[in-house]
Amino acid sequence: MEVPFVDLRAQYASIKEDVDEAIANVLARVDFVLGEAVAAFESAFAEYCGAKTAVGVDSGYSALELILRAYGIGPGDEVITVANTFVATVLAITAVGARPILVDVDPDTCNMDVQQLERVISTATRAIIPVHLYGQPAHMDPILEIARYYDLRVIEDACQAHGAFYKGKRAGSLGDAAAFSFYPAKNLGAYGDGGAVVTNDLDLADRIRLLRNVGQRVKYRHEIKGFNHRLDTLQAAVLCVKLPQLDAWNAARRRIAEQYNQLLAGLPVITPLEPDWATSVYHLYVIRTNQRDEMQRYLREWGIATGLHYPTPVHLQPAFADLGYKPGDFPVSERLSSEILSLPMYPELLPEAVEYVVEAIGAFATDVQLSHPAVTTVTGD
Ligand SMILES: *Cc1c(COP(=O)(O)O)cnc(C)c1O
Repeated sequence: MEVPFVDLRAQYASIKEDVDEAIANVLARVDFVLGEAVAAFESAFAEYCGAKTAVGVDSGYSALELILRAYGIGPGDEVITVANTFVATVLAITAVGARPILVDVDPDTCNMDVQQLERVISTATRAIIPVHLYGQPAHMDPILEIARYYDLRVIEDACQAHGAFYKGKRAGSLGDAAAFSFYPAKNLGAYGDGGAVVTNDLDLADRIRLLRNVGQRVKYRHEIKGFNHRLDTLQAAVLCVKLPQLDAWNAARRRIAEQYNQLLAGLPVITPLEPDWATSVYHLYVIRTNQRDEMQRYLREWGIATGLHYPTPVHLQPAFADLGYKPGDFPVSERLSSEILSLPMYPELLPEAVEYVVEAIGAFATDVQLSHPAVTTVTGD
């Protein structure tokens, strides 16, 4: 059996007629830039997230960058985020000229370790970017409380968490503003690049609308120095077709995660922990093992594709050598980077395929006499 890591073809096959029609409609209207579908998607997505407004942009990275710019964050400012994230979170901070200040993550949730937050806050700190990694919301209440006390903005990196809940509220409605990515493999993916800013702050959204569109509200009247970071109409049209399916797709991901959890119980691996404050949408299903590289190779021989999210923490990337961090600074992120393995996960993944993946892991565990990774205690509320 061949089990791919994701299967975008299977999803397209299930919505082909509607997608093709939506694309044909854009071609008929020829409103390729900031067309009808962009506004339609923005209002549908804002409503879905339980927030007042959404602004479509050209990537998740741009969404983060434009939020920082719209808050006037730049040189001399510090923005706190985690060492265990996709590089775009940190690149958005350096793009505006601010300094990224990293903190470690909690070993159980792989999300921001709130205990470490206060000790890195300085007079230069302007914002905190918690990342809802793997589809699971960060522990937002203590983060918001600290942010309120020190008068900091909270910007959610919700690029992996479309539709996830934190204490009954959707990701994207929890902080001051949120960034979403519609990169094709995300839970809600376009057929190319795309992103959105979601917020209840209408002034912020207005500034971002100007920033994404060369500083103009009215054609050729440029109020501020803007950029070109618009969401494509064709992508918005695809997203309009996909959004109504998102909850069903996320529910399928949760069923698959539950099946993995049940079948993997008893094997010497750590399965994802879902604290009671969170309803994860399992953008990724990530296990931990002492013999990650060997297990990944073994699964490949069985025809099973896996991923690493992420093999190198941000502070050890060559690109960020100038931040002055060194190995050992974020021990949890460093340990996770050598133990994590992302198993195949997409809504159309069949129960037989999940069984096959777990059978392969079981065979590996027997073959190499795999030992259980050190289990840590649950932190939080
Ligand atoms: C995907 C992703 C981004 C950036 O998304 P792009 O649309 O590819 O720019 C940012 N942060 C996280 C955590 C992501 O997973």
